[in-house]
Amino acid sequence: MNTMERRDFLKMAAMTAATAAAQARAGVERTARYTDNHGLTWDKAPCRFCGTGCHVKVGVRSGRVMAIAGAEDADVNKGLLCVKGYHVGGILYGKDRLTEPMLRKNGKLEPIEWEEAIEIIAKRIYDKPKEFAFYGSGQWTIPEGYAAQKFTKGGLSNNHIDPNARLCMASAVTGFISTYGVDEPAGSYDDLDKADVVILWGNNPAEMHPVLFSRIVDRRALGEKVTLIDIGTRRTRSTEFADHYLNFRPQTDLAIANCIANYLLENDKYDKDFVSKHCNFRIDKDDETRDLFGKASTLEEYKEKMSTYTLEYTSQLSGVPMEQLKILCETFANPELKITSLWCMGVNQHYRGTAMNRLLHGIHLLSGHFGKPGDAPTSLTGQPSACGTAREVGTLAHALPGGRLVAKPEHRAACEKVWNMPEGRINPKPGYHTVKMFEKFCTPTAEGGDVSTLFVQVTNPGQSLPNLYKLFEAKKNLEDKFLIVSEVYPTASTEIADLVLPASLWVEKNGIYGNSERRTQQWFKQVEPPGEARDDCWMTIAIARKLYDMGFPGMKDKDGQFIFTFKDEDGEEVPVWDFESYYDINVDKALYEEYRPLTHAKQKNVAPYDILVNAHGLRWPVVETKDGNWRETRFRFSEFDDPFVKKGTGIQFYNSTTKDDKAQIWFCPYEPAPEEPDSEYPFWLSTGRVLEHWHTGSMTMRVKQLKNAMPKAYVELNPEDAAEKGITNGDLVKLTTKRGEMVMPAWINGRGRPPRGAVFVPFFDEKQLINRLTLDATCPVSKEPDYKKCAVKVEKYNPKEKKELP
Ligand code: SF4
Repeated sequence: MNTMERRDFLKMAAMTAATAAAQARAGVERTARYTDNHGLTWDKAPCRFCGTGCHVKVGVRSGRVMAIAGAEDADVNKGLLCVKGYHVGGILYGKDRLTEPMLRKNGKLEPIEWEEAIEIIAKRIYDKPKEFAFYGSGQWTIPEGYAAQKFTKGGLSNNHIDPNARLCMASAVTGFISTYGVDEPAGSYDDLDKADVVILWGNNPAEMHPVLFSRIVDRRALGEKVTLIDIGTRRTRSTEFADHYLNFRPQTDLAIANCIANYLLENDKYDKDFVSKHCNFRIDKDDETRDLFGKASTLEEYKEKMSTYTLEYTSQLSGVPMEQLKILCETFANPELKITSLWCMGVNQHYRGTAMNRLLHGIHLLSGHFGKPGDAPTSLTGQPSACGTAREVGTLAHALPGGRLVAKPEHRAACEKVWNMPEGRINPKPGYHTVKMFEKFCTPTAEGGDVSTLFVQVTNPGQSLPNLYKLFEAKKNLEDKFLIVSEVYPTASTEIADLVLPASLWVEKNGIYGNSERRTQQWFKQVEPPGEARDDCWMTIAIARKLYDMGFPGMKDKDGQFIFTFKDEDGEEVPVWDFESYYDINVDKALYEEYRPLTHAKQKNVAPYDILVNAHGLRWPVVETKDGNWRETRFRFSEFDDPFVKKGTGIQFYNSTTKDDKAQIWFCPYEPAPEEPDSEYPFWLSTGRVLEHWHTGSMTMRVKQLKNAMPKAYVELNPEDAAEKGITNGDLVKLTTKRGEMVMPAWINGRGRPPRGAVFVPFFDEKQLINRLTLDATCPVSKEPDYKKCAVKVEKYNPKEKKELP
């Protein structure tokens, strides 16, 4: 046996022992785990990619993931997976996996030991704790995010921590909170099985949430009538299934939502009983003081504000014919129908994202299409744990676990108590949100750039941030700034990092995710990571321990104990900061069980860890029943299903911002986009994903089948625009915005079909960083950037110009 074989063998043996030990310590039998007669050991895990949260069966043999299948007994996907899900195992085995820590020396990344890497990070934080920022992810597992949160907000008294979910879900969060006083959807995927009408608001689930979309399409195949209305700015694969397609001018979706409300009011077709019992009215402020709460309003004032949005006015503004608008309005006016609205990035990555989220909730509330199976306003998430880790754990710069806020003394006190930290440890001032964090990091220290060390985990900001030259690449010229990136593959982020840390991925570690429908999903480590790759959660704990050893006061609790102290069954402290001991106990379970009581404040009660071990996830609030079982909730705020609703109320918004158990119906006006086409930049540019690739493609581009199916980015053009410019399929096209320029091939009449005056580019291709061109303007309330619209010039490319390009 040569050295490598022996090492692999020892790792495998250790893995088997650790798995058995973890099972025993979990205190429950793992019923999902079995070995078949081909020698494959099967276990469960959620898919690594989108927020749908499908459940896969992972087949392991000889320490390697060999097979993937959909879990037939999982409610979310009932055995189905999309093309990405079927290939999820392949993401572990790209040839260029990062396997050792690397430090940039004289411009080149060179291998170093883990000990040195942890020491370098700890020293930088020790010297300037207030200049440290932590940038995380909706792909962080719940324990990873919780540990990072406790480390930064509790250990460093520094709130500069934000997840990449700021770039995708922040407007949904502010929309939910300002409407219901609490985040996350009231309904669940069960609504899709009951709805008569499904409305897609700037949403393309056929490519982005394919398994969910198949639930709708399957119902039709079984002979059920489900009407699909697609409201978008370009035709997509979802449009091919739609009964009605409403193409609107970008940004005017606000006017369309207001038009529906106005129609219901003018025609006396709103649900008076539901509104009088369960709703208040609010009006958005119209200046820079815009916030979560707006101004209280009467029905009369709300009506008067809405009266502008007639069918005629809205049609002129949006370009949607009046007859189509009327069909939409009449749909909401019909109390016999069950209507589910679905939205995702088209509504969230929007300069008026908070407003648009509020308006969608508002038209469901006003029409009474709420709180019954099939009647629901439902926002979807793009990432597998945007809900679980970013929103529930509260890793956003202003938040704390369980829907709490750093600005509220009682919320800080509750966390300090659970963390056994002295009063006043948590800083009351919100930290930097994502765009601000990177602005500060990329600004010279002498000019106010007061973030000097930035740690990135489980995300790729070098490709996903907007306006990349300004918000990411400007760092290259700043000698005193230090970028740490924990990654699994080389990316645009590791390209300029000073320190690169190799990370474990998916079933190479224990994990817990929370999907779009409030479902918390647990899995166990099933294979070893390659080389020296290690868990992100371990990295955070190891840095904390090094700071503790250096005498950093924040890494001690009130009793002088290390803030990440974990004891074994004999009460002995386990040195989990030493990776050899990390799996001697189940750190995930320990962190999750510490976090779990914090979820009770706003009735987000998650299930105990041991219960999750043998479930395909459970939707919170999860409560214990008299017989000792644990019961999930499919429909929040509805008496028939939500255990927290008072008997006899029917519907109760028990987290209401107005403390009267009522939701808020908002008026938010249409306003022009921050950058609109003009004579120099006459087209709209929108960006997004494709079916085959997930986000920046750093994982899916390593899977041969997915890469071959969609190898590179392209620009979608309308055929008439293309003909006018002499562009045919495959011709190179130059795109220029105020921020930069880029060349890529044209795809005309392809998968997506923009209207005249608009182009679309996917963002998965690391060789074509389209976000160098996008705008960094954010929603004033959520601080989420608008990736869906900026002004662009479109030209047929002359190859002689090539050397002038960036
Ligand atoms: S729909 Fe999403 S969660 Fe389901 S298999 Fe596809 S990528 Fe994975």
